[in-house]
Amino acid sequence: MIQINDNYLKLPGSYLFASIASKAEAFRKELDKDDIISLGIGDVTRPLCSAVIDAMHSAVDDLSRSETFRGYGPEQGYAFLRQAIADNDYAPRGVKISADEIFISDGAKSDTGNIGDILGAGCKVAVTDPVYPVYVDSNAMAGRAGDYEGSSWSNLVYLPCHEENGFVPQLPSEIIDVVYLCYPNNPMGTVLTRKQLEKWVNYALDNDILIMYDAAYEAFITDPDVPHSIYEIEGSKKVAIEFRSYSKTAGFTGVRCGFVVIPDELRIKSKGRDVRLNALWKRRQSTKFNGASYISQKGAAAIYTEEGRRQVRETISYYKQNAAYLKHALEEMGLKVFGGENAPYLWVATPGGMPSWDFFDFLLRQAHIICTPGAGFGPSGEGFIRFTAFGSRETYIEAAGRLKKLNI
Ligand SMILES: *Cc1c(COP(=O)(O)O)cnc(C)c1O
Repeated sequence: MIQINDNYLKLPGSYLFASIASKAEAFRKELDKDDIISLGIGDVTRPLCSAVIDAMHSAVDDLSRSETFRGYGPEQGYAFLRQAIADNDYAPRGVKISADEIFISDGAKSDTGNIGDILGAGCKVAVTDPVYPVYVDSNAMAGRAGDYEGSSWSNLVYLPCHEENGFVPQLPSEIIDVVYLCYPNNPMGTVLTRKQLEKWVNYALDNDILIMYDAAYEAFITDPDVPHSIYEIEGSKKVAIEFRSYSKTAGFTGVRCGFVVIPDELRIKSKGRDVRLNALWKRRQSTKFNGASYISQKGAAAIYTEEGRRQVRETISYYKQNAAYLKHALEEMGLKVFGGENAPYLWVATPGGMPSWDFFDFLLRQAHIICTPGAGFGPSGEGFIRFTAFGSRETYIEAAGRLKKLNI
């Protein structure tokens, strides 16, 4: 008899972006003219920079000639890219990561979603609340989350982030095995300072906890007190896996390329054995993954050239200016705005603690602006909405003008 993975049946429908789209669509039908602005979806809009485009064109040409043709690449990724990462993302920050500790992938969603393959079903998992849903759902699929009880999972440990704790998760009071941290944070746009991250690393070292550190928004950090990598913190190589992505850094959401770092020092004691997670992940990837495309990897490597670096910085700065512009406009209206300084997201408290879906409806009807209701990211997201900074400048100027006219 065929059996399915019952854990999938426990998953609630993924309603957040579908509900947003259907509400927007219904409202669009009522309008004479479609002037709805979306500040909701976390996708980039600026085109790829010319350094990346040129590198990808030349990679396509390589594939066109038998002398330079490439088929399957190394499963862990091409050495030219892994070395560029070690030399540019880590060495200048005083972090010694070798190319062998880096695994190139098709993006951080796959990696953060797949990493659970190497964990046992009995691991106790903690997530921040609100949270990037991939961590939660992928653990639910593996049977580690328990049952869904309306707004949370019975077997996950939630670390609430709210105004009172400065949106910084407290160390859990219960025993956990694994914790997912995403900094700069999606959806809150908040960061951890060096000291705050040190506290987590020390806690993990003292309690044998594995930290899954998602640094997909690292490129948006400008504050010198905010670490770009968890490996800037002493001892972290023994306890942390780091996820990176070129999606938000360089507009690779459609190209697809990212990477995971699993330090050689990262060992887990399991049933009396000292297991090296790097070797386990290599085994997992070489069985289930055949590598990111040569074209994507060539494009990613171009980000580390002088020209590429400058062009990528310009785009990031463009988005950061959008965030600053919108933040200023919202604050002028008297709204409380968090994040947006080292991240492309603004986390905005709804006026008078209005439920986030009600404020979503209000903004849609009164200003024709789409946001993302915070409740969609977890119970502590209630009372907040998320705005993204990934649109065009004109969009933000228009949005700010409309928001100013609102009566809140
Ligand atoms: C966008 C995003 C990613 C990156 O996903 P890709 O699969 O690399 O496009 C990873 N983590 C978070 C929290 C994100 O918001």
